[in-house]
Amino acid sequence: MNFDKLKFGQTIGIIGGGQLGKMMAQSAQKMGFRVIVLDPDPDCPCQYVAHQFIEAAYDDIEALNQLGELSDVITYEFENIAAEQLKHLVEAYNVPQGSQAIQLLQDRLTEKQSLQDAGAHVVPFEQVTSQQDLEQVIQNLGYPFMIKTRFGGYDGKGQILVRSEAELEEATQLVMREECVAEQFLELHQEVSLTVTVGQNQQTVFFPLQENEHRDQILFKTIVPARSNQEKRARQEVEKIINAIHFIGTFTVEFFIDQNQNLYVNEIAPRPHNSGHYSIEACDYSQFDTHILAVTGQQLPTQIELLKPAVMMNLLGKDLDLLEDVFHEHPEWHIHIYGKHERKASRKMGHMTILTHNVEQTEQRMLETFEGRG
Ligand code: ADP
Ligand code: MG
Repeated sequence: MNFDKLKFGQTIGIIGGGQLGKMMAQSAQKMGFRVIVLDPDPDCPCQYVAHQFIEAAYDDIEALNQLGELSDVITYEFENIAAEQLKHLVEAYNVPQGSQAIQLLQDRLTEKQSLQDAGAHVVPFEQVTSQQDLEQVIQNLGYPFMIKTRFGGYDGKGQILVRSEAELEEATQLVMREECVAEQFLELHQEVSLTVTVGQNQQTVFFPLQENEHRDQILFKTIVPARSNQEKRARQEVEKIINAIHFIGTFTVEFFIDQNQNLYVNEIAPRPHNSGHYSIEACDYSQFDTHILAVTGQQLPTQIELLKPAVMMNLLGKDLDLLEDVFHEHPEWHIHIYGKHERKASRKMGHMTILTHNVEQTEQRMLETFEGRG
């Protein structure tokens, strides 16, 4: 798909004003674009960064049209925009990311089915809408398995691990309330992710493989380059996905690696991703820079260079008190605070990136500082 290149001073409309929108806006402004953000929360991180702010719900069609009229291109940082509204925007305005990817990926079932159709290797899964289905899952997948809601889950929300019959009750209740998918639970050796940007004419550029550690199902830290020999295979999986799903911009594929070194595609985020934040300091282009280049129709760099290995750690509400006491002693920590007003224990309030030639030592020091976390 071809569309006009944006020129300096033209306007990018961003749906969603959280930290991803803020970092997108900062990249866009560096390049000379104007930014308008739509978000229901007047206190969101983008409020004080955008040139213009529209306070409205994500399904407010009038407000979305206003955003469309004021913008030369629309992008989003938030993937749960209602399909109908997004389809309308794609028809009426310039939305290079399109609506196909988001529609497939906001539903875990169609996401897994389309990944499988694309030839990607996914964890065995089944659709679950009733108690009978659940019994089928026990037969087909066996314990332990995960139950995940089809819609709206993030940071482990809407997920239950079922290890044995004793834990079936909670899963049954979830299945009665919401449509779900069941998935085999893997003994993980490692989690990795690959961030990629697709530009016009399918020009594709990969970031280095990222090694991720989750705690309580929330990303805790990312190490780059990943200490893994699976980068080539991960790229092959991503290429299958790019060929099957139309998308322009930055997206990230999350992978599981099991104890036998099998690589599985877990899920896709059709937008910049938490595990790509290190790229702001550690690479010659950040995932936000390449996203903005792609959606404004510019050429992408032919490759992304990792300037120095990096450790990125998320800063949750519970970390901020600690951080305030010690961060002045650590100029080597590149600290990003998103500007969310309400501090909650498990809410992502910021992140920090440390560039290092000694990842193990850096990790160790960081953990000592934040001891007792997680
Ligand atoms: P979310 O949308 O919340 O990120 P994910 O499906 O990525 O949902 O799950 C969050 C985390 O939970 C994963 O990164 C992983 O650590 C763990 N997890 C999820 N599914 C499985 C599974 N099938 N086997 C092992 N661990 C899993
Ligand atoms: Mg995930």
